[in-house]
Amino acid sequence: MDARHKAGHDGGKFMTFPDIVPELKRRLPNLRGRLIANQPLGEFTWFRVGGPAQALFMPEDENDLAYALANLPNEVPVTVIGAGSNLIVRDGGVEGLVIRLGRGFNDIASDDNHRVTAGTAMLDVMVARAAQKAGIAGLAFLSGIPGTIGGALRMNGGAYGGETKDILIEARGVDRAGNLRTFTNADMGFSYRHCSAPEDVIFTTAVFQGRAGSADEIAAEMAAIKEKREASQPRNRTGGSTFKNPPGKNAWKVIDEAGCRGLKIGDAQVSELHCNFLINLGHATAADIETLGETVRERVRAHSGIVLEWEIKRIGVN
Ligand SMILES: Cc1cc2nc3c(=O)[nH]c(=O)nc-3n(C[C@H](O)[C@H](O)[C@H](O)COP(=O)(O)OP(=O)(O)OC[C@H]3O[C@@H](n4cnc5c(N)ncnc54)[C@H](O)[C@@H]3O)c2cc1C
Repeated sequence: MDARHKAGHDGGKFMTFPDIVPELKRRLPNLRGRLIANQPLGEFTWFRVGGPAQALFMPEDENDLAYALANLPNEVPVTVIGAGSNLIVRDGGVEGLVIRLGRGFNDIASDDNHRVTAGTAMLDVMVARAAQKAGIAGLAFLSGIPGTIGGALRMNGGAYGGETKDILIEARGVDRAGNLRTFTNADMGFSYRHCSAPEDVIFTTAVFQGRAGSADEIAAEMAAIKEKREASQPRNRTGGSTFKNPPGKNAWKVIDEAGCRGLKIGDAQVSELHCNFLINLGHATAADIETLGETVRERVRAHSGIVLEWEIKRIGVN
């Protein structure tokens, strides 16, 4: 099966890929999750831009995911997305199978040793709230990150002094060949907004270690995080921090010093409120946003010699 066709225009309106769903259904007769051809992905991302998935798959549970990956033809590329809060989907869409975990990956449980086990489709804030209710401290920082646990594992998400690497005991996932794999904290090779677990692994469950705490105090901590964020960050049509902080510096500051605050390309703008955030003013394309990011990188390099590294993941074709 050749899944690597370029997306084409459909009636001059939409970019679409050749429909691989009938052939996938034929080759994977026991698949239980939903499989949709040419599903627009913009609605699954915070920026609200981007083309379709050649095929979007929403597995029912971990076994369904493993079955799909074990039986999918090798040449079909696989991409997993979470809440799309750190993602630019390019305008031409994403070739192959795009996987989005849902209901079957939303379980959460805690135990007497202050451990929290969460499915990776869960939103970080829901995990933080469950820990707070159970009187488990140490996970409140997650309430400030608008992604899923899967995204937090891949990005080593962190905020206000806490990082995923500080609380993770182990993560479980499925690799491209369909094997179930378990990774200890050390196996994850965490560093700043990075995880070195193999790129093909789709995480399904995380086990976190918290500590005993007072539900009221944790609630107050979460309220303070919420207040700080609302005052300092745009919360709409953005991808959060665009670039990683360069060693010893703040990305927003070097961007500001290079004169980029408020800079616009098409309907994409460097936020006036927080200039490491890019925002879609309403009708931006993915190309506008990515070009704006590259323009910022170029201006910062010319101004200070600092080469900014993208924190936002960009997927798909132009
Ligand atoms: C307003 C705003 C504020 C933000 N503030 C912060 C912050 O304070 N700290 C911070 O760290 N981040 C922040 N972010 C960025 C973002 O929320 C985090 O990177 C988050 O962890 C991404 O999770 P996600 O589910 O949205 O992942 P996505 O954006 O969907 O994907 C991000 C990456 O994770 C991978 N991924 C997703 N799910 C899985 C999975 N199950 N298995 C394997 N890989 C997976 C994707 O392939 C992709 O490479 C912010 C974003 C916004 C929009």
